[in-house]
Amino acid sequence: APTIGVLALQGDVREHLAALESSGAHGVTVRRPSELAQIDGLIIPGGESTTMSNLLGVFDLLEPLRVRLAEGLPAYGSCAGMILLASKILDTRPDARHLDCLDITVRRNAFGRQVDSFETDLDVIDIDGGPVRAVFIRAPWVERVGEHVEVLATVPHGPAAGRVVAVRQNSVLATSFHPEVTGDDRVHRLFVDMVRRS
Ligand code: GLN
Repeated sequence: APTIGVLALQGDVREHLAALESSGAHGVTVRRPSELAQIDGLIIPGGESTTMSNLLGVFDLLEPLRVRLAEGLPAYGSCAGMILLASKILDTRPDARHLDCLDITVRRNAFGRQVDSFETDLDVIDIDGGPVRAVFIRAPWVERVGEHVEVLATVPHGPAAGRVVAVRQNSVLATSFHPEVTGDDRVHRLFVDMVRRS
């Protein structure tokens, strides 16, 4: 089974580890640069992207992680994780550093205050067995998609209809929503498959 790290600086690490185990991967926490050498893929969970960006600096992980990603380490970012992987971030602090390995522009907290959090059913490309229940918690959306980026899901209806909320570029996957909180491991299985193939 592939060993997949979950960046454990902040956020719902335990739920991601559980979803990895149920998807046939071995999940481990990552807090130190040395732990990056032992993983076949990495999940960056939700949380608060500017805080996580600070912590990446404090834990000396920013540069080592950039290097591993540039070498092709498969990665999956959910919510704040999507923001950290993106090449450009709108509505962030000017000094916030990020990983810049996914050719998208994201807008933080894009769905607005009135709809801080919401859930909807999404059809996701490459996920069979019916729609995925998507939980959005002060989520970003994707405003620009680079030419090598595949759109995997858009919001089906409501004020945000058509907004891009799941993307993939080579071995990097990102979702605006939190699949780890629903007990449905199909997004994690998609990522584990990407790790196996890479
Ligand atoms: N709003 C958060 C941020 O900008 C992301 C929220 C989340 O990860 N659930 O980082």
